[in-house]
Amino acid sequence: MRRSKSRPDASDRGAATLDVALLSGFRFQCRPDCGLCCYASPAVTVVEQRRLLQIEPEAPMDPGDGGYRFIAPQGEGGACHFLSANRCRVHALRPFPCAEYPLLVHVGSRPQATLVLTCPGLDLSALDGYAGGPAPEGPPLGLKSELAMVHLEMGRSPVGEWIGEGMRLDRVLRKRWSPSLEATESIERRLAAAMSRSVPDPGSLVPPPRSDGLDSLPLLFDPGLGRVGLASGTDGLELWRLRESGGDVGEVGSYPVPQGEPALDEAGARRLRGYLGYCLRRDSLTWQRFAAGPRGTGTLEDDLLRDLAELRAAVLIRGSAISMATGGGVATFGVTEIDRGIRATDADWLDRRTVGRIL
Ligand code: SF4
Ligand code: SF4
Repeated sequence: MRRSKSRPDASDRGAATLDVALLSGFRFQCRPDCGLCCYASPAVTVVEQRRLLQIEPEAPMDPGDGGYRFIAPQGEGGACHFLSANRCRVHALRPFPCAEYPLLVHVGSRPQATLVLTCPGLDLSALDGYAGGPAPEGPPLGLKSELAMVHLEMGRSPVGEWIGEGMRLDRVLRKRWSPSLEATESIERRLAAAMSRSVPDPGSLVPPPRSDGLDSLPLLFDPGLGRVGLASGTDGLELWRLRESGGDVGEVGSYPVPQGEPALDEAGARRLRGYLGYCLRRDSLTWQRFAAGPRGTGTLEDDLLRDLAELRAAVLIRGSAISMATGGGVATFGVTEIDRGIRATDADWLDRRTVGRIL
């Protein structure tokens, strides 16, 4: 979940073609009982802020930079000031970060649209198309207005300038890694290796402890649990139920990290493989690694595969904790358990630092 979001200086505008391939085949319908994406502090422009303050002159805004402010949350880890009983009081005037969600545009050496798969309004079955076969085709369903908002924002933003900067960075940063092995083995084929790690190791995706504050926790919505934050505890993972006005309603429970690889049924294995294939096609995978730097003396491809192996471990561990919280856990992971793990991980993963830009 993006807890805050910086936005561009709109002094220079640029036209560029948005790559929308990663939206193909997905279906979206917002869930009225969710509200998860409003547990955030959206960045607002001066114009957006002025419109919001006309509706509610005393609405609290936190300071930002680059001409932006942030709509203040209602309390620690609470929802945006404008959320009331899961409804946005300023829906028609909501700022761009809210209007585009669950879309997200990353600009490295090109603008690429992706989906924040933590959103429970997205049907994740399209991920199966990334499990080694041809990627899904066909326009996404239910994302027309979100896509229109993205195109509008691109017209207001210096995207052309960012791309030029991104192309220069791409050339410079790749030289920090050993020469690539991709001539002998493609990264897509090597993804199979990332699927066979037997010991879950979520690497940098270990959630912080509750004591770091609810604002720092990865969030998810589950129909049985409501909105929860995921924290590291002494016994494994903890789930904390969130209150709209801030603070938590209490701990749902604490769940041990599975020792070793959980069993996956065929559909669960395909969904997980599809998720990793989808993430491999996201430019942000590479640009986040550019930001973090080389892990050792390996190739860039080696490092990206380790990133995907960590992502996979995080999905399995988080999926296991949520399944235990909702029904006592299962011996074999299917699509339900994998989807829970994906939803509990994806926004957290997309939030990692990138040297690219987020629109
Ligand atoms: S997270 Fe998704 S389903 Fe939930 S309120 Fe936001 S857009 Fe709707
Ligand atoms: S402005 Fe509305 S849509 Fe945006 S975070 Fe606040 S309540 Fe949610």
